[in-house]
Amino acid sequence: MQPVLIIGAGLSGLSCALYLHKKGIPVQILEASDGIGGRVRTDELDGFLLDRGFQVYLDAYPEAGKLLDLPALDLKPFEPGALIFDGEKLHPVMDVFRRPASVLRSALAPIGTLADKLRVALLRFKILHSTSKSPDQTTESFLKNFGFSPRIIDTFFRSFYGGIFLENDLRTSSRMFEFTFRMFTQGSATLPAAGMQGIPQQLVDQLPADTIRLNSPVTSIHGKQVTLNTGETLTASHLILATDAHQTAKLLPAFQAQSPTWRAVTSLYFTTEKAPFPDPIIALNGTGKGLINNIAILSNVAPSYAPTGQALLSVSVLGLHQNENLAALVIAELQTWFGPAAKNYRHLRTDHIRHALPEQKPGHKSPGSLKLNNTWICGDHNTTASIEGAIISGKQTAESLLASL
Ligand SMILES: Cc1cc2nc3c(=O)[nH]c(=O)nc-3n(C[C@H](O)[C@H](O)[C@H](O)COP(=O)(O)OP(=O)(O)OC[C@H]3O[C@@H](n4cnc5c(N)ncnc54)[C@H](O)[C@@H]3O)c2cc1C
Repeated sequence: MQPVLIIGAGLSGLSCALYLHKKGIPVQILEASDGIGGRVRTDELDGFLLDRGFQVYLDAYPEAGKLLDLPALDLKPFEPGALIFDGEKLHPVMDVFRRPASVLRSALAPIGTLADKLRVALLRFKILHSTSKSPDQTTESFLKNFGFSPRIIDTFFRSFYGGIFLENDLRTSSRMFEFTFRMFTQGSATLPAAGMQGIPQQLVDQLPADTIRLNSPVTSIHGKQVTLNTGETLTASHLILATDAHQTAKLLPAFQAQSPTWRAVTSLYFTTEKAPFPDPIIALNGTGKGLINNIAILSNVAPSYAPTGQALLSVSVLGLHQNENLAALVIAELQTWFGPAAKNYRHLRTDHIRHALPEQKPGHKSPGSLKLNNTWICGDHNTTASIEGAIISGKQTAESLLASL
């Protein structure tokens, strides 16, 4: 029997392969790059674990949790909350339901009004318990309609969700906001001890050894035949495109009309001997000015991310910044956050990630799986742009294909 050919060894392709394999269907994955994981990859550099862009795994993701062995991932949690930089100092704003001792400090922090803080509790209740759905709208209008003040939207929501949506106009669909808010409420943001690539690696480990061919970019598809860059052609029983939406549109012109626009991010890593703060918590730029959106000291969360005696800082700048002086500009900005010591931070690497997340505006359709010209299409663009979304899309594509047999 010809195998099902899956193009792309990102999380959607791997999840699809695993569900088909569990049903006894032979699968072969063709991957263009030199490794598995797609957008979820980690490189080791001089003892540091550098994820390709700041990412976290939310341990409440229900479908991902079914495929992964979470204890074996040795997930290290972030503190629930954030430190917010107001131009002078960092103010802690904690999830008071999980850190009740912080209620006073959080209530007194000059981030939004007291009414805003009560509204967060109301929103939490509504998202966890209400069955009625709010209309799909931008996240910004959802927050305004919920009664949040412009101050808390500007100082907290723009940078916190800016770091997740990779845009801080908050134009992303409120469905995505509600989904991530629920995940943060029900669990923790975490880092696997071995780096984010530990997640796709666990899926690969559950597949037969010869399932994946790396360094095998597909250049064209014709019916159930694919051609690789070497000219080699392969024939599939069924063909699944699990590439990112940008590549999907290139390989399958019929998809072009649905190809989304992209959000980009520039991610910088620095190291220093003394971490500027000791806590495993994200720090957000609440000033609305400057390049930096968010900072995490990854070695405070997962010590395995850095050699002993070194701290690893991850700084996210929204959008693509190709400026050669970017690291110097970020270091100058870090000095306003952490004082003159930041001048000596050592720059390790900058990642420019053009195709980071597909735009998901209000009205975004989430078909899970899609079939065009006899080719199945899966990927995060079909669901929510997230690890969970990619895994769900892989699962739903496998289920649709199995149902069609
Ligand atoms: C910087 C950044 C931060 C993020 N933060 C988070 C986060 O904190 N939490 C979260 O849940 N999600 C996060 N995400 C989103 C999440 O990583 C993605 O939604 C998910 O990994 C997408 O998986 P995918 O399989 O749909 O696509 P991809 O991971 O893009 O996989 C597609 C694969 O197809 C391969 N490919 C492409 N073209 C070809 C070809 N012609 N032939 C063969 N192979 C090809 C690619 O090399 C790639 O391996 C983040 C993403 C980025 C980039």
